[in-house]
Amino acid sequence: MGKVLIIGAGGVGTVVAHKVAQNPDVFIEIMIASRTKSKCDAVVKAIGNPNIQTAQVDADSVDELVALFNSFKPEIVINVALPYQDLTIMEACLKTGVNYLDTANYEPKDVAHFEYSWQWAYKKRFEEAGLTAILGCGFDPGVSGIYTAYAAKHYFDEIQYLDIVDCNAGNHHKAFATNFNPEINIREITQNGRYYENGQWITTQPLEIHKDLTYPNVGPRDSYLLYHEELESLVKNFPTIKRARFWMTFGQEYLTHLRVIQNIGMARIDEVEYNGMKIVPLQFLKAVLPNPQDLGENYEGETSIGCRIRGLKDGKERTYYVYNNCSHQEAYKETGMHGVSYTTGVPAMIGAMMFLKGLWKKPGVWNVEEFNPDPFMEQLNKQGLPWHEVIDGDLEL
Ligand code: NDP
Repeated sequence: MGKVLIIGAGGVGTVVAHKVAQNPDVFIEIMIASRTKSKCDAVVKAIGNPNIQTAQVDADSVDELVALFNSFKPEIVINVALPYQDLTIMEACLKTGVNYLDTANYEPKDVAHFEYSWQWAYKKRFEEAGLTAILGCGFDPGVSGIYTAYAAKHYFDEIQYLDIVDCNAGNHHKAFATNFNPEINIREITQNGRYYENGQWITTQPLEIHKDLTYPNVGPRDSYLLYHEELESLVKNFPTIKRARFWMTFGQEYLTHLRVIQNIGMARIDEVEYNGMKIVPLQFLKAVLPNPQDLGENYEGETSIGCRIRGLKDGKERTYYVYNNCSHQEAYKETGMHGVSYTTGVPAMIGAMMFLKGLWKKPGVWNVEEFNPDPFMEQLNKQGLPWHEVIDGDLEL
């Protein structure tokens, strides 16, 4: 059906490339491009399909992107580079008539700040160009929004309370490692917490609020309230929501390391002078931490991510829990990457599939919950991320 260009050859890009290659009826021509071409070549070798093309591109440069898009002429770009590149890639899409999909909202490099305003500002230009931009199509953001849209469509007249719960019950046997890009991950977790209640955003200290939540097949885990970007679009798109929160599990060992990293200044994102050159401590730290892509081989256990929702149906209160559990080892066997990359890369591929099949094609800039969730939910079951439902169970929240 269509030509796809994947930008980024990290953990998530590797999974996207595998899954795109597994669906040749939809993706008829594939290119993977990144800053380091050898990484793209390694991904193609691992997949074993020499028809996948590779290229070098600096996605911070609109000119380089435009040249690449004009030569390959993709219908859609799957952006799984870093959030810093979202706007340059969107600009290049507008200049060349290419549709867009990503898994994380734009962040400026010099401030750890997550909000959709920068990308929503492109809505009119994408509309006028007749191009579709799909924002936040990983697991969370991504499937978390699709689960919510599915719940709203099939189970509720009014969603009132939404809790997104993200548990990684895996063990990679390293003292400290992040599951995806360490710079992006540590920026996210060390921020103030934030949740939405009765029309207002309430800010907490970083990781201030936590409680035990019970995850299917895992058991109770200490879960911390974080700010997560999809809360911003979900409360806008489902205005009946009275409270929306996001929870993520962390082990004590991880939190102790994180505290030390912060206390000694290694989480800083401003430049410091070192031996006559300028370095950003967090970027330096990334260079010495385990590479998230190398964690898969020894990763045991599973992730469990879902939405716990309370609201009204036919005048009565109802609860609904929809979730997926993903085994790190199964993900590794299929793609060479662990469950965190897998749960992000599979939805990114499905989003591009939805676009190419014409099911999610509408000019403008959209968050995933603004599309029909049904065909996406059907593909989750077919593409390796099956979901389960509990109706009127105890949500614990
Ligand atoms: P990695 O760091 O493993 O990979 C990022 C890739 O992007 C690398 O190949 C890197 O190249 C490439 N890249 C970075 N800068 C540039 C540039 N200027 N030009 C071209 N390529 C560039 O990250 P992950 O794969 O773990 O994560 C990818 C994205 O997925 C991130 O945006 C992350 O926030 C998002 N994510 C979303 C989740 C969700 O559920 N929604 C969950 C997890 C991640 P090089 O190898 O040369 O450094």
